[in-house]
Amino acid sequence: MSKNPFCLVCNSQTEFFFEKFVSETNSEIKLFKCLKCGLVFVHPMPEAEKIQSFYDSNYYEKPGFLVSFLQKFRVKKLVRFPKGKLLDVGCGNCSFVNAMAEKDWESFGLDVSAESEKHFSKKVKNSLHANVKKIYFKPLKENNFSGNFFDAVTFWHVLEHLTDPVPELNETKRILKKQGKLLIAVPNIESFSFRIFGKNWFHLDLPRHLIHFSPESLSKLLESKGFKVKKISYFSLEHDPFGVFQSIYNSLGFKWNFFHNLLRKRISPFSSLGNFINFLFTLILFPIVLPVSFILSFIFSLLKKPDTFTLIAEKKFS
Ligand SMILES: [Zn+2]
Repeated sequence: MSKNPFCLVCNSQTEFFFEKFVSETNSEIKLFKCLKCGLVFVHPMPEAEKIQSFYDSNYYEKPGFLVSFLQKFRVKKLVRFPKGKLLDVGCGNCSFVNAMAEKDWESFGLDVSAESEKHFSKKVKNSLHANVKKIYFKPLKENNFSGNFFDAVTFWHVLEHLTDPVPELNETKRILKKQGKLLIAVPNIESFSFRIFGKNWFHLDLPRHLIHFSPESLSKLLESKGFKVKKISYFSLEHDPFGVFQSIYNSLGFKWNFFHNLLRKRISPFSSLGNFINFLFTLILFPIVLPVSFILSFIFSLLKKPDTFTLIAEKKFS
C-alpha cells in the first residue's frame, strides 16, 4: 500500500512530487501532487502553532513608496466593477484595503496573524481612510458575516498559506452577493520558473507555502465550489520579475533569498563577512540579472506559464 496522502480538495490519489530540506525548520518537507486535479501540497501539514512561528514581524512590510506604487496594479483589477463592499482576506498592513477605500469602496480587512494585529494597533490603525469600515482578526468563519453581503472578496497571496482552502472558499461563497467577485492571486506551480529553478524557485517559499496551485487546478477547485472563472491574468509586475530575479541568485549559490531579506531588512550586508561578500557579488551581477529577469518573466507571461497568476471568479446564481 502506498502511504501517499489523498488530495486535500478532491480526495483522489496523489503521487510524490518532491522534497526539500528547509533549514528554517531543520526538516525535510515533502510535497505531493493530486493525479486528478493537479493540486500540489505539503504533507504532513505543520501544526497550527508551528505555522504562526513561520511569520516574524518583518513579514508585514511597511507601506513604502514601492508598495504604494504596486498597489495601483492590484486596485486596477477591481475598480472596473461597480463599487460596493470589499473584504480583503489576509490584509497584512492594510495597504490594499486603504487603496480600495480611496476609490470609494466600503472596505473591510481580515488578518489572523498575531503579528499583524500588533502591527495594526501600533502603526496602521490611525492612518486608515474613512471608507475603511473594519479590520477583523479572527478566522473568516468566526466573524459571523451576513450572507450575500460583499460585492468582492480578495485573497492576495493568501490561499497558498492555508492548510485547507475549502472551508475558506465555502464561507466566501456564502458571504458574497450573487455575481459577487472573488479574486485570488497565488504562485503558479506550473510556471517555467519552477521547471527551471526547481527547489531554488523563490515562490516555493517553504515552509510558508503549504499548497501550490496552477491556473488549471485552481479553476477546477473553484468551479466545484460554485464559482464561475471569469478571467485569469498571467502577469504580475509585483511578483513575477522579482520571482525570476531572486530564483537566479538562489540558483547561483547565494545565501538563500539574500536580496529579498535585504529588502525586508531581515539582514544587514555588514553584519558578517559572508553577508558582505554576498552583497558585493549581488551588486556586481545586478546589471545583468535584473534585465534578464524582466525579459524572462515577460516571455513566461506570454507563454501563460508565469511565476504567479491572478484569477477572478464570480459566484454562480444557483
Ligand atoms: Zn485533487
